[in-house]
Amino acid sequence: MDDYEIAQQRLVSPQETSADGEENNLRPRTLEDYVGQEKVKENLRIYLEAARRRGEPMDHVLLYGPPGLGKTTLAGIVAQEMGVQIRITSGPAIEKPGDLAALLTNLQEGDVLFIDEIHRLSRQVEEVLYPALEDFALDIMIGKGPAAQSIRINLPRFTLVGATTRAGQLTGPLRDRFGVLLKLELYSPEELARIIQRSAGILGQPCTPEGAYELAKCSRGTPRVANRLLKRVRDFAVVLGDGNIDQKTAKLALKRMDIDALGLDELDRSLLRAVIELYGGGPVGLDTLAAALGEEAVTLEDICEPYLMQMGFLTRTPRGRCVTRLAYQHLGMTPPEPPQGKNGQADGQMSLFE
Ligand code: ADP
Repeated sequence: MDDYEIAQQRLVSPQETSADGEENNLRPRTLEDYVGQEKVKENLRIYLEAARRRGEPMDHVLLYGPPGLGKTTLAGIVAQEMGVQIRITSGPAIEKPGDLAALLTNLQEGDVLFIDEIHRLSRQVEEVLYPALEDFALDIMIGKGPAAQSIRINLPRFTLVGATTRAGQLTGPLRDRFGVLLKLELYSPEELARIIQRSAGILGQPCTPEGAYELAKCSRGTPRVANRLLKRVRDFAVVLGDGNIDQKTAKLALKRMDIDALGLDELDRSLLRAVIELYGGGPVGLDTLAAALGEEAVTLEDICEPYLMQMGFLTRTPRGRCVTRLAYQHLGMTPPEPPQGKNGQADGQMSLFE
């Protein structure tokens, strides 16, 4: 197991872990049940309705945003709303053009093909995908040398739903072939509390609104983390309380799990502390920081940073990562005095020229 995999096992990691096995039961099946992401839902409703009226499959959709925000769930909802089947795969799982050809030729008319981590498709596979997306056709080379011939196989019309945590890493030609681009945002604590109450209902777990809100505040804006905290706190409620998740039980359980009031765990706090104690608050390059913490850079970038930035604890600058005054305050440390300008007022510009 490498470092990245270990980090994924953190309780507040947004990545899917083996312990999320029951996730499918908690997945909303319709747009009605899908909490939050109002703008995305509004647009999707229109595209779905238009496709249904035209009697055609929906345009290809690219979903992007951090892990655990509901991209796979939305792909399932698109299939459900169109009344078609969904096939789920991921970029790294499609190793050769032949793997993709096998997947595509097995689709039925109108089906949804979901490719998670689509930014990790190889170049060769991507090239096979282009005509499939544009003309619903596969171009296959038969033979070698001067006798080689290209033949075209027609495919059923399908909808590709691609998901990525890094829209910036997608090649231009691939991005251009998606008719619909939808960006998922981190959820508010109120929305996460609704998700927790909905999941508690499905699991038959009594949970008060205050208990749900307490967990929601610590869920890093991510439904997957919210559901995972709910399942862990259930154990504490049964063993240490009366089985009910109220505010007191939730607080106690979070404390026992070493998760602080804003959902930061030990790795997040070590990251902030390292920037402050080793690099004077920053800027520090991501790779340097990763080496100092003994973590993979990708772990910090995908798992810690989105939430730390959303909370206003960390900023990315062209010269590296910097912590903010809020981070010092959250860790109970004193932020340095801002540099003083000539007239005695804080003047950030001056420090650039000194
Ligand atoms: P992603 O594909 O973005 O990593 P998933 O679609 O697998 O995320 O979602 C992770 C879990 O979070 C799912 O099991 C689902 O139950 C829950 N979830 C995600 N989005 C929502 C939502 N909008 N409303 C309710 N539950 C959600």
